[in-house]
Amino acid sequence: MSTNVADSSLPAQRLLGKVAIVTGGASGIGEGIVRLFHKHGAKICILDVQDELGQQICESLSNDDSNICYLHCDVSNEDDVRQAIDFTVDKFSTLDIMVNNAGVMEPHNPDIRTFDLNRFEKTMNINAKGTFIGMKHAARIMMPNKKGTIVSTSSMASVIAGVSPHAYTASKHAIVGLTQNVAAELGKHGIRVNCVSPYGVPTPLTFNQLPKEYVTDEVIAGARKQITMKANLQGVDLTVDDVANAVLFFASDDAKYVSGTNLLVDGGFSSVNHSFG
Ligand code: NAD
Repeated sequence: MSTNVADSSLPAQRLLGKVAIVTGGASGIGEGIVRLFHKHGAKICILDVQDELGQQICESLSNDDSNICYLHCDVSNEDDVRQAIDFTVDKFSTLDIMVNNAGVMEPHNPDIRTFDLNRFEKTMNINAKGTFIGMKHAARIMMPNKKGTIVSTSSMASVIAGVSPHAYTASKHAIVGLTQNVAAELGKHGIRVNCVSPYGVPTPLTFNQLPKEYVTDEVIAGARKQITMKANLQGVDLTVDDVANAVLFFASDDAKYVSGTNLLVDGGFSSVNHSFG
């Protein structure tokens, strides 16, 4: 009987030659995923609405820009996503990995009676509908190939109540539901569908509700410490790489028998604390 466990012949580059799209890849966790995928040999198309940041990442990663590109794409707009996926397939010949990571969080409003429905719709459009559109058009390419993997970014808000704004929580629950349903549909076509659920990674999303002058390195370091302590993981330096590594696992053949799963990357917070405060 042969086994791959601890096989030292496994390639160091887990995604060598694979073609990946990363939405929301111009910042935060998405940027971490792009950098890690690049290190692991993937060809990548970054989709985002922050054009300058997206271009800068491409430039910083490659002398040979043929393996990485950036495209402006609003994930809530189906035409944008369809065109971006077709562009990627034209450029790199196929699509192996779709990462639906773009997301927004509306400002917290503790009083449901005054909840702004425009904000509710915006959050659902980008986070939930945007993820669905990404799955839909990735499936269009992957189904005829009989292979592919889709990874989306949900949130710890998909399993713990009271920690995030209402629309954000609803949208992240939707991503878990979509992951399971789409995994059920696409499994017979050899396509795996999973999601990761982070908590408290210091990124613009977690800090954009605060005045800019407040977001100093000291504040970020303090937030990290507080989060890891709440998760009962004192001394751990929580970074975007902790989420990117989980996405890499799902994207690679290391997870070839894993589908329909929501992996919490929350330092154990959700299993230790069941309410905030
Ligand atoms: P971020 O703000 O740094 O990154 C989000 C990216 O999505 C940005 O580059 C932004 O421009 C892009 N984006 C927003 N709207 C878009 C649209 N309509 N089309 C295309 N791109 C769009 O924040 P982040 O923390 O890195 O968030 C990445 C993902 O991780 C999000 O889905 C977020 O909900 C999720 N998440 C983050 C945390 C955390 O602690 N940071 C926790 C749980 C889940």
